[in-house]
Amino acid sequence: AAPAAGTQPGLVVAGFGRHVLVETASGERVICHPRGKKNQALVGDRIRWLPTQDEGTIEKIETRSNLFYRQDEMRTKSFAANLDQVLILIAAEPEFSESQLTRALIAAEAERITPIIALNKSDLSEPFGRAWTKLAPYRAMGYRMLPLAVKPKFDAAENAAQTAELMELLRGKKTLMLGPSGAGKSSLTNLLIPQAKVLTAEISQALNSGKHTTTSTTLYWVDEARTTALIDSPGFQEFGLNHIQPMQLATLMPDLKAHAQNCKFYNCTHLHEPGCGVISEVNLAGGQGSISASRYRLYSELFAELSQERRY
Ligand code: GDP
Ligand code: ZN
Repeated sequence: AAPAAGTQPGLVVAGFGRHVLVETASGERVICHPRGKKNQALVGDRIRWLPTQDEGTIEKIETRSNLFYRQDEMRTKSFAANLDQVLILIAAEPEFSESQLTRALIAAEAERITPIIALNKSDLSEPFGRAWTKLAPYRAMGYRMLPLAVKPKFDAAENAAQTAELMELLRGKKTLMLGPSGAGKSSLTNLLIPQAKVLTAEISQALNSGKHTTTSTTLYWVDEARTTALIDSPGFQEFGLNHIQPMQLATLMPDLKAHAQNCKFYNCTHLHEPGCGVISEVNLAGGQGSISASRYRLYSELFAELSQERRY
């Protein structure tokens, strides 16, 4: 359909509450307000907007290719759209949580978004070695994984090469960056986008009429041509997995999925059934199977959690 008269295309680059900051085709930024209750635009959304005095209203949100959710108390909220990939930034220190990592990976798989796992602080060789070993099962599952040292205490020749490899993976794509506090997200943002601090201050001022806040999701262009974007979202929120059916869960975990094909029952929950391919893999003598005990435990916890959610 032809766009409504007078509307212009735009890209949502920051969100705060119901109001968003929109980048116009010529690269200017304008605050836009939703028209009515339904039009909640998200960072990454392509929209049509209509200028009003010095601001704008959102007239239309273009069809999304995917959506990322996060959980907030009992509700699930979406916060970013149209992503090409997700960068999960964890670090040698503080030790990462396998449960958070698994949740982030499942959230990405559910939206068919490619996840990349980056392990930061490769300069801290001892904790780094431990963390890299802990990630071995995830490498075996086929996840793209790379070491990084975005702000090394002990600089080494490979640090720059690691950053260059990351840049190669980001090029031309919109990447949502997620990771626990202390992993190095701000350090990476500042390394890739030196003007990020200034932009953040401008955005929070524009969106929140002067009150200082850093709690909004923000899209930064890494290159001048505006083809490579990093989307920074504060914190490592609990991912909104409520939209996932418990029976779907094993298909979103590559290590389980590979063995679920061998189950006797097509509707196997992999929790107690006889002839279950997943359970027999977990029970292989000496933990020699390709499903680790911790991944299976996370699966059963999540299965219970998602079954619980369904009852409300
Ligand atoms: P954020 O909470 O994810 O935004 O993490 P920050 O970027 O604030 O980094 C947390 C701490 O880790 C800071 O003290 C950084 O200086 C430090 N840090 C970041 N990157 C590296 C790294 O590659 N190596 C080491 N040793 N420290 C790092
Ligand atoms: Zn099974």
